[in-house]
Amino acid sequence: MQRTLIKDTLNKIGETVTLFGFAETKRDHGKVTFIDLRDRTGKIQIVGYKMLSEVKTESVLEVVGEVKARPEKQINPELITGTVELDVKEYKILGSAQDLPILVEGDGLEMNEEVRLKYRYLDLRRARLTKNIRLRSNFVRALRDALYEQDFVEIETPILSQTTKEGARDFLVPSRLQPGTFYALPQSPQQYKQLLMASGFERYFQVARCFRDEDLRADRLLELTQLDLEMSYVFEPQEVMQTVEAIVKKAVQAVGGKLQKADFPVINYQEAMEKYGADRFDLRTEQEKKDGVLAFAWVVNFPFFKKVDRSDAAEVLDGKSGWTFTHNPFSAALPEDQADWLAGKNIAGLRAAQYDLVCNGYEVGGGSIRAHTREALMATYKIMGYTEAEVEASVGHLLRAFDLGTPPHGGLALGLDRLLMVLTGEESIKEVVAFPTTGSGKTAVMDGPSAVADEQLAELGLTRKAL
Ligand code: ASP
Repeated sequence: MQRTLIKDTLNKIGETVTLFGFAETKRDHGKVTFIDLRDRTGKIQIVGYKMLSEVKTESVLEVVGEVKARPEKQINPELITGTVELDVKEYKILGSAQDLPILVEGDGLEMNEEVRLKYRYLDLRRARLTKNIRLRSNFVRALRDALYEQDFVEIETPILSQTTKEGARDFLVPSRLQPGTFYALPQSPQQYKQLLMASGFERYFQVARCFRDEDLRADRLLELTQLDLEMSYVFEPQEVMQTVEAIVKKAVQAVGGKLQKADFPVINYQEAMEKYGADRFDLRTEQEKKDGVLAFAWVVNFPFFKKVDRSDAAEVLDGKSGWTFTHNPFSAALPEDQADWLAGKNIAGLRAAQYDLVCNGYEVGGGSIRAHTREALMATYKIMGYTEAEVEASVGHLLRAFDLGTPPHGGLALGLDRLLMVLTGEESIKEVVAFPTTGSGKTAVMDGPSAVADEQLAELGLTRKAL
């Protein structure tokens, strides 16, 4: 038995074929039963005489039948196979579905999120989500293709890592082999990608999972995916911005996205704050919003440091002097500000060689030219009030790499989930992630985080504190 894909039935009128798929809608007229059978390529109406009526919606079927042209009046323009139907000769139920806990029809947006995520595999059968996840795959492929063309190397970096200063709260993982110590899940591959520049790869990228234990919002998740990249021998923000812009344009166009401008406008941070009151803004007209246009823009000339926000635990930890970085501590200052930066002067006026990419009101990427010498990275940490010993404990490995010859470098990360949310016109990042966490941080389908047995804790050298 050879399988025919549903989209190919169009060319098989008069032939007997075998189809596999889900039974979508069922219309039972007693003697005749109609079902829309769905596989990854489309849907077709299948017709059973005195059969199929037992089939429950969303069950999985193997169907053998003859492809028949539909009479003119019964052509369905909604289906790609609307001019044909399958006259079922025999069928098997390969996977029977019970009563469905959630409806698979419709866009699902009005439904309770917890239930949708509990049955996410079912939810993902929904046309809107299937389309989003497929678009995501195509978009990532286009990004990869564009990066390979530019000689980038895809390299994976560790998930079990050391706690770092990147502006958010770390997720910690207890070590069994060294009780009482913890790995941290990476907030981004920032330091490893800089180390890869020290290794001489020159052009790195990764579709990287990053973990940030932050309060959740519609455009944030506990784990996110970045398209992370880094390049050696770049000295000015424009060099990275141009490379990234070309790659983003290619990938957006590959999935049919409409760009507002052929070249992304570049806006000063100060100007953005004065004009839009924020460093992320929406440049679309009302009509462009309706047409699903994407308005990308770069924001540059960010202040390097800011006063610590006392209500932010991570900032308080990082900014011992009362100053902390605005983006990450690994940036360089703009060339004009480098003398002051190295001297620790005029802190409020220092600008980082940082660039953010915004689109339709969201920050969808950011990066910088980096500090690539000991002196430079030290300067940043000194401004934040660290002693040499504290810097050594925190980023000593980077300093040593810099001491052993590291090329000047810079890079950027695109927030893939957020960018895809914008690309698909969704209101929540969860609509473009296969298995996102719920609003309260519970995992989809599985029941994490969950309590663990005392034996498991003991193995890790942990004890339970009465709550
Ligand atoms: N590591 C930065 C971030 O995750 C991106 C970068 O500067 O490359 O936001």
